[in-house]
Amino acid sequence: VLTYDGIVEHDAAIMDGRSRAAGAATGTTRIRNPITLARRVMENSPHVFLRSPGADQFATGQQLEQVPNEWFVTPERRRQWEEFRGRQGISSFDVDLKYGTVGAVALDQVGNVAAATSTGGLTGKRWGRIGDTPVIGAGTFADNRSCAVSATGSGEFFIRAGVAHEICARIRHGREAPQAAADAVMADVAALGGSGGVIVVTPAGEGVYSFNTPGMYRGMANPNGRSVAIYGDD
Ligand code: ASP
Repeated sequence: VLTYDGIVEHDAAIMDGRSRAAGAATGTTRIRNPITLARRVMENSPHVFLRSPGADQFATGQQLEQVPNEWFVTPERRRQWEEFRGRQGISSFDVDLKYGTVGAVALDQVGNVAAATSTGGLTGKRWGRIGDTPVIGAGTFADNRSCAVSATGSGEFFIRAGVAHEICARIRHGREAPQAAADAVMADVAALGGSGGVIVVTPAGEGVYSFNTPGMYRGMANPNGRSVAIYGDD
């Protein structure tokens, strides 16, 4: 999605549930694969969270592929941005502007979970706004003792509810099954006024979704096959 000024600024994070090692970057404008940058932050720096321009500078040192900012722009996102700039009173949180997050959670054969999320944030974001995506524990979290979570939605509310960590904490403290934990935390987000959803996987192999928007583009692959869906009743 495009910022208020009409460019693309990425947020991204990755987390390894084995060690709770994590890496994140915000405000990058020319790194082709922001999650690869987040992974380099995790593996090749002593830090967890870098912001640009320093994050872009670090990426350059890591020899990550760079592209011009326009490379990220699609005609539909440009159209949404024009609608946003042209219409009074439209909010960045309007779900018709479709959130742009891509998230993944994964489980390996021996019970390690991981999560990664990247996004351009909200259409029309400005003033250096940072969403939940790169905030460890808000939009992205993984812990082998509980689960891995990746979130999409109105990030401000996900930060305030500490969504990803809260879902894992509820599971870890034995309070709830994964679906119940995800639903309870999404209900909390809704109560604050937020909208969006989460994908969750546990070390035991349970994969669940929860969202309070009409739809959430999602897919799952496991030993039994693959599935994709958009709307709540798909
Ligand atoms: N959660 C993201 C943010 O607030 C937006 C999204 O889901 O696309 O930055």
